Amino acid sequence: MRPVVCIVGRPNVGKSTLFNKIVGRRIAITEDRPGVTRDRIYAEAEWLNNYFILIDTGGIEPYSDDIILSQIKRQAEIAIDTADVILFVVDGLGGITSTDREIANILRKSGKEVLLVCNKIDTPKTPDEIYEFYELGFGEPIVVSAGQSLGLGDLLDEIIKKFPENKDTDYEEGVIKASIIGKPNVGKSSLINNVLGENRVIVSNVPGTTRDAVDTPFTYKGDKYVFIDTAGVRRKRSISENIERYSVIRTLTAIERSDVSILVIDATVGVTEQDAKIAGYAHERGKGLIIAVNKWDLIEKSNKTYREFEKNIKNTLSFVTYAPIVFISAKTGKRVDKLLQIIKEVYNSYTKRISTGVLNDIINEAVLLNQPPTDKGRRLKIYYGTQVGVMPPKFVIFINDKELLHFSYERYLENQIRLNFGYEGTPLQFEFKEKG
Ligand code: GDP
Ligand code: GDP
Repeated sequence: MRPVVCIVGRPNVGKSTLFNKIVGRRIAITEDRPGVTRDRIYAEAEWLNNYFILIDTGGIEPYSDDIILSQIKRQAEIAIDTADVILFVVDGLGGITSTDREIANILRKSGKEVLLVCNKIDTPKTPDEIYEFYELGFGEPIVVSAGQSLGLGDLLDEIIKKFPENKDTDYEEGVIKASIIGKPNVGKSSLINNVLGENRVIVSNVPGTTRDAVDTPFTYKGDKYVFIDTAGVRRKRSISENIERYSVIRTLTAIERSDVSILVIDATVGVTEQDAKIAGYAHERGKGLIIAVNKWDLIEKSNKTYREFEKNIKNTLSFVTYAPIVFISAKTGKRVDKLLQIIKEVYNSYTKRISTGVLNDIINEAVLLNQPPTDKGRRLKIYYGTQVGVMPPKFVIFINDKELLHFSYERYLENQIRLNFGYEGTPLQFEFKEKG
């Protein structure tokens, strides 16, 4: 689970420039894969092997002239809700403005870790102007030039120093963290209420976490779970309820904190682009995924309905065909128990490890069944593979020459592994290495 860093500040101080400088390289790498976020407001970043999520709150909604201050306040609020560390960016040469002061007041009261960043200092020597910013009450300003890439290393050093010691201790090991995600009104809250209300589960009264997300810990058939709820957060807060892009940020952080995401789809509406986008977030973050088609009670069914739905979903969400689909009704409770069982199964896939011996039996068989292609008289050779990680499962496969490896053969190997070992509901990651 990655720490979250939010960039906050009034317009034109250089937030998006800073965002792009910190994450730019990584965005370029992942750009072309299907289901990948194209949002410029949220990306994974890395510094000295510390991975974190960076959010540019200024990119959440376009500024409009008349409501700038209220927008900025909302952005600060989102940052306070979601961030482990807040970067409060000011224009180092422009002096303190009244908007800077307003933001500072909100951030100070939050008790969150805040780093004050004086941007646009394009010269190596620190000008006297920046001392004024001590007054905002966040200690020594960190001097950078996002435009000229100056001071970014020092800033990143400070950011990672502020990360919480151990982000994984929210819950004890083995607790299955499941986020309930999906568009508004698909039935996320109803689903949670149904699970908690029908004596299916034992709700624990231990309060969840220090975070603002609404976490519901419970026990089902002896296993411990936590529902991480995005809908509840929306209800608890009032200010930003109507702004969909804010709920995107909450969805992203809920996914980040979970092992398995349950994407709830409204059967009366069908699967949409927005659903694909949300599924894409879970896929991209390497989390388990289940698709719950809700309000199934409202659908008039023939013997084909279910198949057609499934086909539609597989088409629209073609990059997550590993995700099991379950047709439920949060209202009547139909197949809600089945959903709970599937969460456990997907978690098992997500954490499953197979031995190198067994894996290589399957790889060898797959190669015999379907020889790797040749290219200019040379054939791809697959030496052996090994599973190197879980959550999600990750494999390293040793081959003779990466140039000979084609995506279709990669896909074939993945399919063979899935066919033999299941891994239902979890993405699999592959790394191919050359070995002489
Ligand atoms: P945002 O509205 O806070 O996201 O600000 P932008 O990143 O869009 O930057 C606003 C303007 O400031 C743009 O014209 C940038 O090119 C410029 N800018 C950003 N960082 C720097 C910097 O370090 N030095 C200088 N001189 N200009 C910068
Ligand atoms: P959320 O915004 O995703 O949390 O959605 P809600 O749980 O608030 O549900 C939105 C609306 O759909 C409410 O009026 C619910 O009563 C209704 N609803 C939710 N699940 C079902 C269902 O399975 N069947 C039917 N008929 N209505 C449902």
